[in-house]
Amino acid sequence: MDLEATPLDSIAQPRPCVRCSKPCLLWVVGRCADCMADMYFNHPEDYRAFKDDVREEFGTKAIA
Ligand SMILES: [Zn+2]
Repeated sequence: MDLEATPLDSIAQPRPCVRCSKPCLLWVVGRCADCMADMYFNHPEDYRAFKDDVREEFGTKAIA
């Protein structure tokens, strides 16, 4: 096993969150984990919109 051969391209790259602009590795349809928790606990309407985005993004594609 050669660690140099690890396919780095397949590892998630940090991307800026569309909500708080922080670069984040755990990133779902634009929102970072912090925002997901914040939305879940403090902004149920945002969370509902987020879930709709998730369904749009993965809902049809996930069924294969
Ligand atoms: Zn965020």
